[in-house]
Amino acid sequence: IAPPSSLSLDDRFARELPELAVAWQAEEAPEPRLLVLNEQLAADLGLDPAAMRTPAGLELLLGTAVPEGAHPVAQAYAGHQFGGFVPRLGDGRALLLGEVTDTGGRLRDLALKGSGRTPFARGGDGLAAVGPMLREYVVSEAMHALGIPTTRSLAVVATGRPVRRETLLPGAVLTRVAAGHLRVGTFQYAAATGDADLLRRLADHAIARHHPAAAEEEQPYLALFEAVVAAQAALVAQWMLVGFVHGVMNTDNMTISGETIDYGPCAFMEAYDPDTVYSSIDAGGRYRYRNQPLAAEWNLARLAEALLPLLADDPEQAVPLAVEALKTFQPRYEAAWSAGMRAKLGLPEGLDDAVAAPLVDELLVQLQQSHVDHTTFFRALGSAARGDADPARNLFLDLPAIDGWLERWRALGPDPAAMDRVNPVYVPRNHLVEEALDAATVGDLDPLGRLLDAVGAPTTSGPASSATRRPLRRTSASTGPSA
Ligand code: AMP
Ligand code: MG
Ligand code: MG
Repeated sequence: IAPPSSLSLDDRFARELPELAVAWQAEEAPEPRLLVLNEQLAADLGLDPAAMRTPAGLELLLGTAVPEGAHPVAQAYAGHQFGGFVPRLGDGRALLLGEVTDTGGRLRDLALKGSGRTPFARGGDGLAAVGPMLREYVVSEAMHALGIPTTRSLAVVATGRPVRRETLLPGAVLTRVAAGHLRVGTFQYAAATGDADLLRRLADHAIARHHPAAAEEEQPYLALFEAVVAAQAALVAQWMLVGFVHGVMNTDNMTISGETIDYGPCAFMEAYDPDTVYSSIDAGGRYRYRNQPLAAEWNLARLAEALLPLLADDPEQAVPLAVEALKTFQPRYEAAWSAGMRAKLGLPEGLDDAVAAPLVDELLVQLQQSHVDHTTFFRALGSAARGDADPARNLFLDLPAIDGWLERWRALGPDPAAMDRVNPVYVPRNHLVEEALDAATVGDLDPLGRLLDAVGAPTTSGPASSATRRPLRRTSASTGPSA
């Protein structure tokens, strides 16, 4: 186990793709204070959790002192934001510290968010507030515990520097761990430079790092695209099955690795409604719940465009290859979603689609009509499979309709134990997240701890069940750290 200062941080991204990397350093923090540390993840990275709590550990987590040989960079990328192309976005308030080989031998990016302005900051202050960084920590770790590919959160450190938003808020830095930070927008940036060699090096880097099997294929770059299509189809199906709404599916927020990235105005749907949208900036509902597969496919079309020069010398030949590969998105998505939905309903393997599909369709109509809580319903259905239908049934307004549905479903012999393994008890519900963040912002970290315990073991009900209830708000909102 390495002390923080001797952590080996590679700079492979910056070495192989210097055109996409600007050497940069994090801003000093006047008064660093550790708010939350992911001890298990630290250990997985070969870091001593106790050492991460020392001043040297905090300096690594803030990027203010980096190990010998590390070369932190801000990454360049472009992106379509709500449909409009922005040729130069990049890390405006983020830094890639470097790549770590974890104890499992996997290469992980260690990156910061909220570490100060960079040359990509445009009008932004380069900073992040405690609340949103803790929010990313909670939701990303909940997603991981649900088995959904995602960037991870190693720590949040309060900086002691105020951040001006509508009001003055305490500032913080999130330390993010990811399979990689390549985005669709990274390819868009490289393609827009017109530098064919850069685009090829980026694709080679992405293959080696994320989709090595593509290297063995006859057309590696087409295989890379197909692998990203497959990864995103599987990812978005998983989002849909737990009711996750990402909120900002811009092309700069879609990874090549297939991990969920950039937790902003995201949330877990409560009452089932396909038009659910949480982001106040998404007035048109472009990224509403039901649009997520379409948005992903649209983003992948932008990736295909960026990759065209690599697919064939002649664009006339490249386009149909890309189109064919893109066409696999929908069937892949549908297969993943249907299989997942069958698992949520505990249906036996090999059940005829002519039976399963109408059953699922009818259920979704009833969930929507009765405004039923998505997470509560699927978990309660496990009890119904055990013979006690009331907890699920009582969520509905139209009882004869749900009784008819439950009877048809039960006749198929659903397996309650299998259902309990896939249907979470705990998701980070918005009101719980907001309460935990409000408390943490004024120095009370207990609600956050309880929430993290619950969402960290999402399919097991147990002592952590207090976290599903509204925790009592402390009456005196004392500032400063709690004892
Ligand atoms: P996001 O909406 O978080 O994906 O960010 C979109 C772009 O804005 C990225 O280039 C970010 O680096 C940049 N950005 C977001 N917030 C800030 C900030 N406070 N200061 C500088 N750049 C920012
Ligand atoms: Mg982003
Ligand atoms: Mg963001």
